[in-house]
Amino acid sequence: MAGDILQRFITYTLNIKHLSPLTHLSNLIPSSLPSPRPTVAASRVPSLFREPYILSGYRPVKQDWRCYLLSVFQRHNESLNVWTHILASVVLLLRWWANVGILGYTLDAAFLPLILFLVSSLSYMFLSVTAHLLQSHSEHAHYFFFFMDYVGVALYQYGCSLGHYFYTSEPAWRESSISLLFLPRAAFFGWLSCAGCCFAKFRYQRPYPLQRKICQLIPTTLAYLLDISPVIHRLFTVSWTHEPSQLFHALQIASFLLSAVFFSFPIPECFFPGHCDFVGQGHQIFHVFLSLCTMFQLEALFQDYAKRRDMVVEVFGKRQLWWACVSFPALFTCCILTALITMRHMKKQLWQNKSSK
Ligand SMILES: [Zn+2]
Repeated sequence: MAGDILQRFITYTLNIKHLSPLTHLSNLIPSSLPSPRPTVAASRVPSLFREPYILSGYRPVKQDWRCYLLSVFQRHNESLNVWTHILASVVLLLRWWANVGILGYTLDAAFLPLILFLVSSLSYMFLSVTAHLLQSHSEHAHYFFFFMDYVGVALYQYGCSLGHYFYTSEPAWRESSISLLFLPRAAFFGWLSCAGCCFAKFRYQRPYPLQRKICQLIPTTLAYLLDISPVIHRLFTVSWTHEPSQLFHALQIASFLLSAVFFSFPIPECFFPGHCDFVGQGHQIFHVFLSLCTMFQLEALFQDYAKRRDMVVEVFGKRQLWWACVSFPALFTCCILTALITMRHMKKQLWQNKSSK
């Protein structure tokens, strides 16, 4: 249906090009779009693309790039991984505007961490959608887009730590030793998560050994424990009846822990090989819980911001808020460089593997 409409639009555009002096522009419009090829069994794709216990629904490699973009409307074993984060981005933006409408905001330094949290959340969702949509093109694409996905994860971790630090932390936590150099340490652990995940993907080939998960999980767990520490402290020291955001913070932690379980283990597909190829894979459930975690965080941070916005600048100072603003793109640059350097080594390895065959 969408293809028909697009085709009609293209035909119409090609007809009017004879009437228009801008012929060279209309020449750029393709006369037809390629259709993605039907999905295939796991045995028909290289081992790199095969997921444990997922036996069918794979998109063939080496199709036109547009086929992978258009595969957003195709039924394959990555469809739900793509759509969970597309829908989550839309809901996140809707909840953002709703909260802004209800609670109001002033575009000043105190609002900055909330904007960075939104940017970091949308970044990880966008990079995840890109990775799941385009990775099937080739081994090169698979590595490149998943390295970029890890950049998104690092940014999101740091975005969370900014929100928790500026809006959620209690005076007693800020006086404790854990708060010392909190933001530089959070940025470092964010980068370490990205570097650990990139290294694990570069170093270990399928079937992946346990060490790969360890390389991914240790830095991300360290980052999470630090980033969540102001929230944990408040949940245990402040009455839940006085702080409306407490419930949302508890829900964000519960969602994150559940997402970590489904990220770490291929459940439920390990119990039903071939039955979760399209719906019900552990990775899809991981996406759902991580998206829920982000939603609950947004609600909690808006509540905390509404209550404390007048004292944020007074407590932390404008300098620290602006430092947070600068450190965010700096972390992004470091992570991108790490991903690109790993990609360079990966390219060499792929080339060596090809020439040794
Ligand atoms: Zn994913």
